[in-house]
Amino acid sequence: MASSLDIAGINKRFGKGDKSVEVLRKIDIHVAPGEFLILVGPSGCGKSTLLNIIAGLDEPTEGEIRIGGKNVVGMPPRDRDIAMVFQSYALYPTLSVADNIGFALEMRKMPKPERQKRIDEVAAMLQISHLLDRRPSQLSGGQRQRVAMGRALARQPQLFLFDEPLSNLDAKLRVEMRAEIKRLHQASGITSVYVTHDQVEAMTLGSRIAVMKGGVVQQLGTPDEIYNRPANTYVATFIGSPT
Ligand code: ADP
Ligand code: MG
Repeated sequence: MASSLDIAGINKRFGKGDKSVEVLRKIDIHVAPGEFLILVGPSGCGKSTLLNIIAGLDEPTEGEIRIGGKNVVGMPPRDRDIAMVFQSYALYPTLSVADNIGFALEMRKMPKPERQKRIDEVAAMLQISHLLDRRPSQLSGGQRQRVAMGRALARQPQLFLFDEPLSNLDAKLRVEMRAEIKRLHQASGITSVYVTHDQVEAMTLGSRIAVMKGGVVQQLGTPDEIYNRPANTYVATFIGSPT
């Protein structure tokens, strides 16, 4: 069952007193169960900070993060049932692809037959069944990124967070992996938040897009709304709407 995500009145300041810097201001976003929401904006606008706050790697100065209606601020990351995929995939180099995917399941003491079944399901979903015996060093960049996603998917998280997962890949592979991520989302139905600084990626991947600048959401809407009815000149210029 997919969960909703509410980002409610999130403010974040780094540092103390006069020297503190406000990095996120009054962020309010409701993500419906099963939705794929994009956060897009230039480097430094606060995307990763917001994702880290959702994951529990950082705490907000104000506001709540509610997963399935329950406020999780203060809850340790491992209790939040969230999977995160970054641009560097950090696979375990000495483990096979199958063991990389199954690692978190083994840590949770899932019995071997059940674990094997889950690894096979995830591998089939990602079309990497033929790679299960390989080591990460024997894989291409795109294959490694698939394994990283498989590892995240295997534990059936309530929420999937992506922080610019494709930005290390070349242009052709990026386009392929976009389609892959879209397919994967449709197959798994897991509520997802996907961060990118790439406008094209944002417009092709998301059902709704939040355009950020300087820690503030400038507009939240469908690709069509954002393209055809940009809220301000910043959004229009950033997305490249016709003027
Ligand atoms: P993005 O992911 O959109 O590129 P970030 O969320 O990484 O942006 O950063 C937003 C702003 O917060 C930047 O100005 C960055 O320098 C600042 N920042 C991020 N982490 C810290 C930190 N731990 N301490 C102080 N400032 C930080
Ligand atoms: Mg970032």
